[in-house]
Amino acid sequence: MDFYPVVIEKLIEEFAKLPGIGYKTAQRLTLHILNLPKEEVEEFAEALVKARGTIKYCSVCGNYTDSDPCAICANPNRDKEYICVVEDAKDIMSIEKVKEYNGVYHVLHGNISPMSGRGPEDIKLRELITRINDNVKEVIVATNPNIEGEATAMYISKILKPLGVKVTRIAHGIPVGGDLEYADEVTISKALEGRKEI
Ligand SMILES: [Zn+2]
Repeated sequence: MDFYPVVIEKLIEEFAKLPGIGYKTAQRLTLHILNLPKEEVEEFAEALVKARGTIKYCSVCGNYTDSDPCAICANPNRDKEYICVVEDAKDIMSIEKVKEYNGVYHVLHGNISPMSGRGPEDIKLRELITRINDNVKEVIVATNPNIEGEATAMYISKILKPLGVKVTRIAHGIPVGGDLEYADEVTISKALEGRKEI
């Protein structure tokens, strides 16, 4: 693709690094950007830098936030008796879209995968254990329904049950091999409804 000036080629390359963006789409996005008014492009660039610069993880639950604790943990109307455990912070957004869950969250930032050499100490499990006290009634494990997600759920159940807390797993709705991120709202809603004790 030698016909593009280096700066344009560089922009295409940057877009192509994003998930789900192939070279052709990257090319289209780049040409779109070049046709925008300069102020709009500056605003876009500023939003990118600002978002990355100010967003951090909540010290309580591990969610993305610009204030600590995050808006969910700091909300007095959220039911702290329920902790929903997810692998990734983006899974919180998927569940929040449904507007049915009013508890709080815990982000593991990964899963247990013996195949890839990832053990319990590689995810935020210790942090989850320290959050369990008499005020917590139920831990809902919403890890992805794939091998790693299931292994993680089983492990969490094994270590939390002796602490006297009810551990449930979302069950129906999410297809096996599926990803929470790509599930629609009805599917997630059904999955929450059909959770069962593990
Ligand atoms: Zn939080």
